[in-house]
Amino acid sequence: MIKSTPVSKLLQTKCQNYQITNNVPLFKNILHYLSEGKHFISIFAFHFLSRQIFMIKITFPDQKIKEYPVGITGLEIARSIHPGLARAVLSVTVNGELWDLMRPINQDATVIFHKWDDEEGKHAFWHSSAHLMAEAIEITFPGTKFGIGPAIENGFYYDIDPGDDVVITEKDLVKVEQKMLELARSKEVYIRKEVSKSEALKFFTEKRDNYKLELINELEDGTISFYTQGSFTDLCRGPHLPGTENIKAIKLLSIAGAYWRGDEKRKQLTRIYGITFPKKSMLDEYLVLLEEAKKRDHRKIGKELELFTFSQKVGQGLPLWLPKGAQLRERLEDFLKKVQKDFGYLPVITPHIGQKELYVTSGHYEKYGKDSFQPIKTPSENEEFLLKPMNCPHHCEIYKFKRRTFRDLPLRFAEFGTVYRYEQSGELHGLTRVRGFTQDDAHIFCRPDQLKEEFLKVIDIIFIIFKALDFKDFFTQISLRDPDDDEKYIGSDENWEKAESAIIEACEEKGLNTIIEYGEAAFYGPKLDFMVKDALGRKWQLGTIQVDYNLPERFELEYVGSDDKRHRPVMIHRAPFGSLERFVAVLIEHTAGKFPLWLSPDQVVIMPISEKYVDYAKKVLNFLNNCDIRSLIDDRDEKIGKKIRDNELKKIPYLLIVGEKEAGSNEVSVRKQGQGDQGTMSLDEFAEFIKNEVEKQMQFS
Ligand SMILES: [Zn+2]
Ligand SMILES: [Zn+2]
Repeated sequence: MIKSTPVSKLLQTKCQNYQITNNVPLFKNILHYLSEGKHFISIFAFHFLSRQIFMIKITFPDQKIKEYPVGITGLEIARSIHPGLARAVLSVTVNGELWDLMRPINQDATVIFHKWDDEEGKHAFWHSSAHLMAEAIEITFPGTKFGIGPAIENGFYYDIDPGDDVVITEKDLVKVEQKMLELARSKEVYIRKEVSKSEALKFFTEKRDNYKLELINELEDGTISFYTQGSFTDLCRGPHLPGTENIKAIKLLSIAGAYWRGDEKRKQLTRIYGITFPKKSMLDEYLVLLEEAKKRDHRKIGKELELFTFSQKVGQGLPLWLPKGAQLRERLEDFLKKVQKDFGYLPVITPHIGQKELYVTSGHYEKYGKDSFQPIKTPSENEEFLLKPMNCPHHCEIYKFKRRTFRDLPLRFAEFGTVYRYEQSGELHGLTRVRGFTQDDAHIFCRPDQLKEEFLKVIDIIFIIFKALDFKDFFTQISLRDPDDDEKYIGSDENWEKAESAIIEACEEKGLNTIIEYGEAAFYGPKLDFMVKDALGRKWQLGTIQVDYNLPERFELEYVGSDDKRHRPVMIHRAPFGSLERFVAVLIEHTAGKFPLWLSPDQVVIMPISEKYVDYAKKVLNFLNNCDIRSLIDDRDEKIGKKIRDNELKKIPYLLIVGEKEAGSNEVSVRKQGQGDQGTMSLDEFAEFIKNEVEKQMQFS
């Protein structure tokens, strides 16, 4: 028997971690010395062994290499570099895999440490918090069964089944939160254990957790791990924090229903969302941000500014644009039309439906047919039509209208095309997730040698739009194939490679801040997405450029080359706004409804100080309207202070005050929304001033 002392235990685990104990006589000797209580010799022998025989090379991101004994953990490596790093590090990537800091490293490896500022660090933090929440729930509501509990962009959730007779409410969240804090303070550690499939099944059969059993049944033996902290054990791949003590601030945010595995035919579970932080002040800041986000919710502002609405009678997910919203949308369209005209785009218009056969040819029916709106049938001819899910097949048929030669290319067909896609009712959300929306769509048909050039031009258009709408903070994501999964994609390897390198080169030439994601490409081609950060730092995907070699193949598109032979054109799908619905939603949340002057539904409000000056206000209104400046009068019988406050709330960019002095000198007193008094100007000066500001915002050539 080995006497259990801290030193002997440590050495024992270390030896076991090497997983070679039995094959190396010297290790057996160490265990033997330990059993005799000869700690000093054991430690010496252990260090001798690990240093002399079992060192591994750890490569750091700066390509520096250091040697460590085999079995060292990420946390120990961090500590050897700096104690501060050990305190800050949350997870580690070992040879490309995300790991726990406490997992022993047994072979040469490259390591990258992740702190709070990295996605991977936050992910481990929030995912560990989901386990902590599950533990607290199990204690508070014994018998609860657990679905999945991932980290998300902001925080985490867990889908749980508390049993048919138990309902968890907002009030209970406070209880669970308290329990979590208590458990976190008790400094529980997350312990990883690899288990066989049969062990795993046995554990959750005894626990009667059918959700976990379903998940385990889909896993391969030899890949399964459990994590335990305190009294709670979960099926999980990891990684997690070393322990709970870093989780200092906890807020459970909301409860929602969520179908098990997103399948509406299966049981609805209770989803609890939460967020945690390593510092209380960070939670406070986050809650302020959340409040601000609520204030900026596009559904709320859209209603207040009378931009759009929904009607249950018309149908969920089908937005109705109100006059002010429709005008705003038209201005966006007009602006893009003007830019596109400059870039050589040609307008086309196509119907909202198309024969089913069209989408069989394009491949959309095979891919989405079953899971989308079902075909519409004609009463007598028995024809089948689909609501248009994409404009591209229609545009391909326009390409085929006549014989094209190399001299005709590139051809750029643009259409604000309304498309319809089925979304589950639970997924619908304001203007961001809808069932009918209008894409600022265009398809560029070009020769393979023109691909990169065209790609660069589309990037230019997106830059123009971002400038006009004041999106300063953005980055791009290139979505390429998953090289290990051929079946998901249509088209030849050669074509894929050509398209992928064109995108990468174009991004390099434009000096874009780019990340590459493998396996994120659409089934028909690689793409480039523009992700913007809004004023609250939230990420939104806007603007997509997609290369497609497949639709030209399926529609047998051709052009006659300079060699007099037939060739296939390449197709680019692009939508700088994405869809007008989603874009307007993002714009509202980004600007809190304070649109740039050129876009604002009302640009100027004229406020007479009293009834006496309403006539002069009307004269000003007439003048501004003649200058194409969108203006209105606030002639309510209210104090000027109240008028100013009310119109500030309406987010009108310029407020004009007119009284005796102004009427006498044909002037206006100008206030800028949120910035106060700008002095007096003559009517001509003011009109000129507005025109200049608008021109500057919309300038693109
Ligand atoms: Zn986990
Ligand atoms: Zn398309």
